[in-house]
Amino acid sequence: MTTPAEAPRDCPLCPRLVAYRQANALEHPDWFNGAVPSFGKDDAQLLIVGLAPGVTGANRTGRPFTGDFAGDLLYSTLNKFKFSKGKFDARSDDGLELVGAMITNAVRCVPPQNKPTPLEEKTCRPFLESRIKALPNLKVILALGRVAHENVISTFGLHKARYHFGHQESHELTPDLQLFDSYHCSRYNTNTGRLTTEMFHAVFADIRKFLDQK
Ligand code: URA
Repeated sequence: MTTPAEAPRDCPLCPRLVAYRQANALEHPDWFNGAVPSFGKDDAQLLIVGLAPGVTGANRTGRPFTGDFAGDLLYSTLNKFKFSKGKFDARSDDGLELVGAMITNAVRCVPPQNKPTPLEEKTCRPFLESRIKALPNLKVILALGRVAHENVISTFGLHKARYHFGHQESHELTPDLQLFDSYHCSRYNTNTGRLTTEMFHAVFADIRKFLDQK
């Protein structure tokens, strides 16, 4: 059977992640506590790939990057570069719409300490592969952080050693699909100055220019 582009909310595939989801559900029954679906429409030209839901962000609200610090920078940047319309209000029912873009995660369930294991990444990868294949207009994938970058590379059966991860670097995945890299827009990266707002905007400026030339 082919893997669907979206994992079922109660996806049973990773025992550790199921246990963590269930523990969170006991403590916070009002949270989403499931495999978080991608956000955006199937006409997307740009697919943004994050790491995994944050426990009090996407795992709570049910929408990628929604409700935690990383999302504030991502969604304000999407708005600046016209990849969204409406007002982002850190809730899945804020009415925000993505324009020509979709956001997904390399791992769809929240991992303890924000760190999926290599096996969990591998187990979740067929969903990423199906997600990519189900976007007929896709031209750009933006990997937020090294884990997203490496999972995208693996999804295409390419060798990680030949595709260096670096902020504002870009690689051709296929003649029709370009990979852009950014440091992850996490609170840690922005607090330590590894990623500034200007650096993040520079990646989106590159993507916008690339898409405008296509
Ligand atoms: N929220 C997500 O959905 N993904 C991340 O990578 C970080 C926060």
